[in-house]
Amino acid sequence: MKTFQVLLLPLILLTLEGCQSLVRTAGELALPKGTVIFSFDDGPNARDDTTDRLMEVLRKYEIRALFALLGKNAEHNPKLVQRIRAEGHVIINHGYSDRFAVFMDEKAFSGNLLRGEAAICNALGGEPDQRLYRPQGGFYTKKQERIWRNAGYTLLPGTVRIYDAILSARDKKRAIAAILRKIEKQGGGIILLHDGRDSHTRMETALAWNPRGVFNRSWIPEMVEETIIALEERGYNLRGVDILSINVSFNP
Ligand SMILES: [Zn+2]
Repeated sequence: MKTFQVLLLPLILLTLEGCQSLVRTAGELALPKGTVIFSFDDGPNARDDTTDRLMEVLRKYEIRALFALLGKNAEHNPKLVQRIRAEGHVIINHGYSDRFAVFMDEKAFSGNLLRGEAAICNALGGEPDQRLYRPQGGFYTKKQERIWRNAGYTLLPGTVRIYDAILSARDKKRAIAAILRKIEKQGGGIILLHDGRDSHTRMETALAWNPRGVFNRSWIPEMVEETIIALEERGYNLRGVDILSINVSFNP
């Protein structure tokens, strides 16, 4: 898919009846002013040690983050799931497969949510600390919201979405600039990035075809480190929230 088509998709989705985006503004979230939180979707990703190296960066700066894991990838990399928790990060259910939530009917959506939960619990050998859910693809319907609420989940929104899933290593500087611009505009927020990209099987297929394409996430840890440095220089607080008791509920 060409970039403009990918960027057009959200606009089309938002015109669908009852379709919602997970993107909020920092002002809608109950976050202290000047606070920035990182969140990473579609992992854990063992390819090029991406998730491991990302955790090394976060550890170096003593930052705790939110990891929205795909059940299929959690099943494939249980050690990484355990490490994410052991390092003090929060594990979030991102469904089992990364098929766009908004395209699933209620039965498929509910099955995917619960299968994602089971895969994470199996990898952890117990329940995660929080019951947060982030819809795959970033869009959802009101009916789906009722399903996850009934299952005891709260939505994990994002406020800074730069569509890094369709960027590659050569876009690194552009990605950092886009994050900083959006953070400055909102005075903080939750950044949505991807340390993985879809399921590990789909990733391998895509990388065999194009090793330097957007399925290659190996540049993310370095990009995150440069972003952390730039945010700290600007005075943002990257440790301002007790991540294990994060309250991401937002004002209606
Ligand atoms: Zn995703």
